[in-house]
Amino acid sequence: MALQEYECPACGGAMEFNPHTQKLRCPYCDSEYDVKDFVANQNSSSSGEAVESPAPEDGNTPSEPLYVYSCGSCGGEILATESLGSTKCPFCNNNIVVKEKFTGEFKPDYIIPFQKTKEDAVNIYTNFVKSKRLVPKVFLEENHIDEIKGVYVPFWLFDAKESFSGLYEATKIRSWSDARYNYTETKYYSVTREGTESFERVPADGSKEMPDDLMESLEPFDYDKAVPFNMGYLAGFFANKYNVEAKECEPHALRRMGTTTAADFRSTVSGYSSVRVQREDCQTVNSSYKYALYPVYMLSTTWSGKHYIFAMNGQNGRFVGDLPFSPMQALKYFIPISLISAALIFFVLGFVL
Ligand SMILES: [Zn+2]
Ligand SMILES: [Zn+2]
Repeated sequence: MALQEYECPACGGAMEFNPHTQKLRCPYCDSEYDVKDFVANQNSSSSGEAVESPAPEDGNTPSEPLYVYSCGSCGGEILATESLGSTKCPFCNNNIVVKEKFTGEFKPDYIIPFQKTKEDAVNIYTNFVKSKRLVPKVFLEENHIDEIKGVYVPFWLFDAKESFSGLYEATKIRSWSDARYNYTETKYYSVTREGTESFERVPADGSKEMPDDLMESLEPFDYDKAVPFNMGYLAGFFANKYNVEAKECEPHALRRMGTTTAADFRSTVSGYSSVRVQREDCQTVNSSYKYALYPVYMLSTTWSGKHYIFAMNGQNGRFVGDLPFSPMQALKYFIPISLISAALIFFVLGFVL
């Protein structure tokens, strides 16, 4: 398998894609190159080989086969999973991309290049942790981040047109009184809604390893910044090719669109005292998809023997993750407050008595 490398033409250093300038940059001599020009003009002779990892001796089911590539720069062995197509040499930090993972049927239509750097990610993480008052102090220490990784995650982007028809029973209630009686008038309406709603580029992640809900919470990505795919954007980042087929992701994406369509039509049935759904039907008229890579930073930390994963949208810095709750820190916040309220109660009681 052919490897794409990013050797600096000026000094031979390993170049990386720079999210701030959107160019390939050599960290050793500061040369910068346009992504498209560089990849088009560069030929790399390095190669790698797929090698099945040996079956475990204890007879357990074998783990995912590993691929071994030899680094064109230092000759070191680079191990990668089947889906990992962009990685680093652990010995010399050379950035390599396995061309076969991003060509042919695996060639992405689009890529949203990283716009936030690793340093941006660390700053945003620190501010996020600071904004949560009830977390252990140790989380504020930058060196507590075990690992931070920029990863291009494979996404399927679905376009679809949904056809909707709905039937609702609605009421309008009017009440009034005279000297002898209270009156209530209820008018019943049969309300119908019919129409279509079109969706563009609804994303569904095509990676088995990524939790779907985590990826959905990183949305939205600004698709206007997407560009036609080029391997140069992968330099210095990890990237996985898809290992979940579009057909497998499609039902979930269409369900999301169906739910939105129904809610949108239902919200137009307004001005009534009550609305009851009698029938709602949503059918997909047509759908198609494209393949794209989206930029995500993954941060992992360990605390009290537990592992925590945070993720950040590599385009706009949107940050998600679960933070642990620190009982000691919570006490610090709650004791003074409960003392104050206890004092107030005594004061009020004393005054009344
Ligand atoms: Zn250089
Ligand atoms: Zn190397």
